[in-house]
Amino acid sequence: MLQLDSHPRGRHFLQIPGPSPVPDRLLRALSLPTIDHRGPEFGVLGLQVLEGLRKIFKTSQPVIVYPTSGTGAWEAALVNTLSPGDHVLMYETGHFASLWAKLAGKLGLEVELLSSGGTDVHLPDAPGWRRAVDAQQIEQRLRRDSAHNIKAVCVVHNETSTGVTSSIPSVRAAMQSAQHPALLMVDTISGLASADYRHDEWGVDVSVGGSQKGLMLPPGIAFNAISQRALEATRTAKLPRSYWSWDEMLESNRNGYFPYTPNTNLLYALAECIDMLLAEGLDNVFRRHERWGAGVRAAVEQWGLPIQCADPSAYSPVVTGVMTPPGTDADALRRLILERFDLSLGMGLGKVRGRMFRIGHIGDSNDLTLLAAIAGCEMGLRLSGVALAGSGVQAAMDYFASHAAPAGKAA
Ligand code: PLP
Repeated sequence: MLQLDSHPRGRHFLQIPGPSPVPDRLLRALSLPTIDHRGPEFGVLGLQVLEGLRKIFKTSQPVIVYPTSGTGAWEAALVNTLSPGDHVLMYETGHFASLWAKLAGKLGLEVELLSSGGTDVHLPDAPGWRRAVDAQQIEQRLRRDSAHNIKAVCVVHNETSTGVTSSIPSVRAAMQSAQHPALLMVDTISGLASADYRHDEWGVDVSVGGSQKGLMLPPGIAFNAISQRALEATRTAKLPRSYWSWDEMLESNRNGYFPYTPNTNLLYALAECIDMLLAEGLDNVFRRHERWGAGVRAAVEQWGLPIQCADPSAYSPVVTGVMTPPGTDADALRRLILERFDLSLGMGLGKVRGRMFRIGHIGDSNDLTLLAAIAGCEMGLRLSGVALAGSGVQAAMDYFASHAAPAGKAA
């Protein structure tokens, strides 16, 4: 049994890049009594949420809401639009791009995984895990596919495992320039509601999102925002699907209902969260995250440790990957920081396991909680014997003090 009396005092610092800290206002919404998901009250909530989500994805087209984690919504995107043996072009930006590719392979799709390659002193065995999607490479590959065998291009907008954000408009421009008809599918599971995202304007066919990152909700719901072309693709798509089928969802959603039991209480909180984000203004939300990211990076630079993202134009507003010096086990460091300071940091995933840690700057945070998280990292690094060039806490304080939050509000 959970030993509640052994829980440390004060709030735990959940500084992983999702699930992110949930604002009290959303926790209160979650605690409302559960209602009949086929009753009249629910239909109103359903319609409100579906309409609000369109604003978050910046689309006038349907958004599907699944009771699932992001992985389910990855699968839904593929099975609704593709057929067994279809060729899909994916891009290895990190662990999550690799996992999506693996899932596509298990579904019977023929997966081609591009990677930026090259050399890298800090990550010689995985150089692509420090960089964004190279749209030119995609364009060149699509130009060679004159028979249009490639049915979909799938990329991750914000690669949570590395702290690298890719430019989706550049990928769409590359597809247009190659005059290739493939569908564009984008995982914005950790980008949505923290980094600028525009489903319609960027010409995305399926956007995949999740509840537990920028939307600041607990895990448990994930989304597919879809385009007209993606909807048309369902007519010929032959991958087996039942639970994930868009058709039945769209039919029920017309009146705000779902074909099976939705996560009623998470939807209360989703409605509340959409209100919060729209009241703040999405542009302010994006600026807030960019500013937090810049403050955290100021600290990492002052420590003298490499930021995992090697391209400053692709720095993520959501998460910063910090590479530990050779000989320092990043997982042991994270363990020490958790035990001593009750601060959870993101672990290195897949190819970078034990070689880096991740500081999330999303969810219910502010300058002072981020400074505390940076202080926890700095103390842990020193206790682990890592020689730091300077005080990251001081650098972050200087950054936050000299860069006011959007509209002068506390951020
Ligand atoms: N894609 C990205 C970018 C993610 O960050 C994650 C999870 O962190 C996933 C996909 C997988 O989502 P889930 O763990 O909710 O299934």
